Amino acid sequence: MKIGIVGTGMVGSAAAYAMALLGVGTEIVLVDANPALALAQAQDIAHATPFAKTVTIQAGGYVDLKDAAVVIIAAGVSQKPGESRLALLERNVEVFRSVIGGVMQAAPDTILLIATNPLDVMTYVAQRISGLPPERVIGSGTILDTARLRSLLGDHLGIAPTSVHAYVLGEHGDSEVPVWSSAMAGSVPIVSFAEQIGRPLDQAARTSIADQVRGAAYTIIEGKGATWYGIGAGLARIVRAIIGDERAVLSVSQVSADIEGVKDVALSLPRIVGRRGVIATLMPDLDAEERAALKRSAEVIAGFSTKLGF
Ligand code: ADP
Repeated sequence: MKIGIVGTGMVGSAAAYAMALLGVGTEIVLVDANPALALAQAQDIAHATPFAKTVTIQAGGYVDLKDAAVVIIAAGVSQKPGESRLALLERNVEVFRSVIGGVMQAAPDTILLIATNPLDVMTYVAQRISGLPPERVIGSGTILDTARLRSLLGDHLGIAPTSVHAYVLGEHGDSEVPVWSSAMAGSVPIVSFAEQIGRPLDQAARTSIADQVRGAAYTIIEGKGATWYGIGAGLARIVRAIIGDERAVLSVSQVSADIEGVKDVALSLPRIVGRRGVIATLMPDLDAEERAALKRSAEVIAGFSTKLGF
């Protein structure tokens, strides 16, 4: 199955590398405004495949995306010194106009998987520009924040992160919402589980874990300028769920009609992901505080989307 990636900088190439190592898809096509970069990334990653899975990787143009089941969009421009967040966003909207125009012409039946930040706003922009139904424009959203939350909770409780069922919802960004009230360890509510084993999840523990989840990207950026491996693997996970029609429940972004009274906003909720994209969205039980935080998060994202004039 063919997977396309447009934008082969750090995030796009990390996604390609993760897919090659994990054997997600059979053919990966890399497209970039800088064709020499796409070619170099394709060759470098292709040299890893003899040690991994049988996946073909090549650089190409938009025409080569024909029949791609999924196209990851990781193209974007970075902030110029002194540039406002809104001005940067407007430049990325222009990038998306050109990229999504090219993708839709070559592969009108594809599913778009958005990885460009600010993630939720760009997911909204991609859905509007492409005209695709919202369930076929998925943003990587809080998939990585959720993975970080599970890992920290696993450490705190001394259990495997795979036994932790907890989500970070809302914006992939500062207003994200870790949901404690419906989180589970195995099939036991997590707060009760924590008490039973003598490692309570009191307010201080929750705040510390939430801060670490929220601050993880900042810490990495301080050390190496940007983040790419974690999100690369997260993108490969979403692609696997789509092409394998796994119907896995993942916290990913999608334009939703109404979130706590905020209309037409893209943000993350637990969503069932399979061959047709998002098959259904689940709304976990939230307490009043979490509900208010989700509304605030939706308002932050919608504020930017509205300013872009879509
Ligand atoms: P990140 O760390 O988010 O991956 P990078 O700057 O490393 O950011 O990568 C972004 C990539 O997007 C670059 O390789 C750049 O050439 C590419 N890009 C920017 N604009 C376009 C465009 N209009 N079409 C295709 N690719 C683009």
